Amino acid sequence: MLPLKTICATVKYFPVHWENVAVDEKGVIRPGRKISWGVPHSIDDDDDNEKPHKEEGKPLRFWQQVRQLYFTFEQGKVPIDFYYQYGGILEDFRSESIDEVRKRLDWFRLLTVMVEWAKTGRLAPLWEKFGPPQESKDCKPVFFVNDDSELNIKFSPWISTEAGEVLFHTPKNDEQLLQATWEAVTNAVGKYLDGIRLAPIIQEQPQSGLILWGFIAKGALQAAFLDWFFQEIAHMNVTTCQARGCQNIVLLPRKIFCSERCRQREKKSRQRHNKRTGL
Ligand SMILES: [Zn+2]
Repeated sequence: MLPLKTICATVKYFPVHWENVAVDEKGVIRPGRKISWGVPHSIDDDDDNEKPHKEEGKPLRFWQQVRQLYFTFEQGKVPIDFYYQYGGILEDFRSESIDEVRKRLDWFRLLTVMVEWAKTGRLAPLWEKFGPPQESKDCKPVFFVNDDSELNIKFSPWISTEAGEVLFHTPKNDEQLLQATWEAVTNAVGKYLDGIRLAPIIQEQPQSGLILWGFIAKGALQAAFLDWFFQEIAHMNVTTCQARGCQNIVLLPRKIFCSERCRQREKKSRQRHNKRTGL
């Protein structure tokens, strides 16, 4: 594998406003006569746009706002204001069915919640999802959500060959539970990312030698997913170089510095520093 050290990527999201949203008798949501392109929506960290606030006064991130829409739909409501501001939740910018939207939002809600549980070590709700340890001769996947669609979250039991017998088993202890959770989550994340386009972005004033890539979000759910992915998942297990002024990713077998050059550079700078301070 060729290790790509650095690619510069951004998330591109152009919401399409849906005005006069209506729901027909089949449960399909559509904009009224008018749709209009919004301005590019930034979902970066320091977004100072006005946002709904939680009780503690901490603004909700875009992905959290989208996640909460699940409950709006569960209450049988359609978030008109959200559609006005951001347009469709799914990929089609002309119409979408309530059932499909609810299903996808349920997927997103559970995916993000499972990651929260895994990161904070809340094992009880995870055990509830996986159920008690099971052993079987058939490989029966454990589905957490949407078992009938491509967009699911599932765990495929591990194979073991004890005493010459082939058996499939689900997690047996806490450590395996976490491992299985990450397996299920990364699997679902990978499948969803596969449907998002990554394309070079033409910049008006390009910096020489820099090609900027963009994940092109179609609809609010893809934008929310990318927002969540880059905040919560992408940087996990990634170490960056400890040399001053270097942000390169450290690839195994290296552990602290990205390269011999950075290691030497940092060593010399430390020696100079020690000399100055007389250590
Ligand atoms: Zn470095």
